[in-house]
Amino acid sequence: MPEPALDFVIAALEKIREASDQLPRMSRTVLARLRSVNPVAISLPAAPESREGARETFALLTEQRLRPSPNKAKLLEPVRERVRACTKCAHLACSRTQTVFGVGNPDADLMFIGEAPGVDEDQQGEPFVGRAGQLLTKILKAMNFDRDDVYIANILKCRPDTAPGSFGNRAPTPTEMQTCRPYLVEQVEIIQPKVLVALGAVAVEGLLGMRGTMRELRGRWHAYNGIPLMITYHPAYLLRNQAPSEKRKVWEDMLQVLERLDKPITERQRNYFL
Ligand code: URA
Repeated sequence: MPEPALDFVIAALEKIREASDQLPRMSRTVLARLRSVNPVAISLPAAPESREGARETFALLTEQRLRPSPNKAKLLEPVRERVRACTKCAHLACSRTQTVFGVGNPDADLMFIGEAPGVDEDQQGEPFVGRAGQLLTKILKAMNFDRDDVYIANILKCRPDTAPGSFGNRAPTPTEMQTCRPYLVEQVEIIQPKVLVALGAVAVEGLLGMRGTMRELRGRWHAYNGIPLMITYHPAYLLRNQAPSEKRKVWEDMLQVLERLDKPITERQRNYFL
């Protein structure tokens, strides 16, 4: 059970015990359900001052706790299944090794959106596992996140096909993005992250239907369906352009993300790539 909620329950129980002849009782079921609380869903009242306040606090906590928080992993499963069976883009359904749905924590506060699986992602069935993905993982580490702490998905769930024998990946077409977008919309609706990060102009076009240069778009807050959205360079851009000034731009965007999430930032972190 999350610490703040536990503290409130204990404080409420202590007040009841002080002010009452009867010891407060709680069944194993209630205890088990309290332990499974989703901390994000809690709205804590002020610390209880009186016996009545303590009772109210306790009632509120148990009532909030007992209302089951949505099991986002479970809610994502039918979407994943529909994606797995999707043939809306017949050419991609034929060429893909597998669909690439998304990875990470369905309860994440932070969600990254890329453009489409590349050859490595198509083979492994997981977004951002190739060179660009490894750089994204490093950026996450610098932010004090593991890949499992965030959620990562793409606009397209299939690798854009390329001519046989050709090398590299191709960008998704506007039609492919429009066709696949509803799956991402569902993912965001279920996950309800506190902050979204769109990686690169193609992801922005897929998500917002808006074209622009990264110079215009990055480094400031946008919104998608009321969720704060930071736009930054795609890690593949940083692989092509290794200038510290470009790394610093992405890092400044990530510092804004950390601030928005109320994450502590060390002086060392603030000065990366300066
Ligand atoms: N680039 C993306 O945009 N997404 C991936 O999953 C991999 C590379």
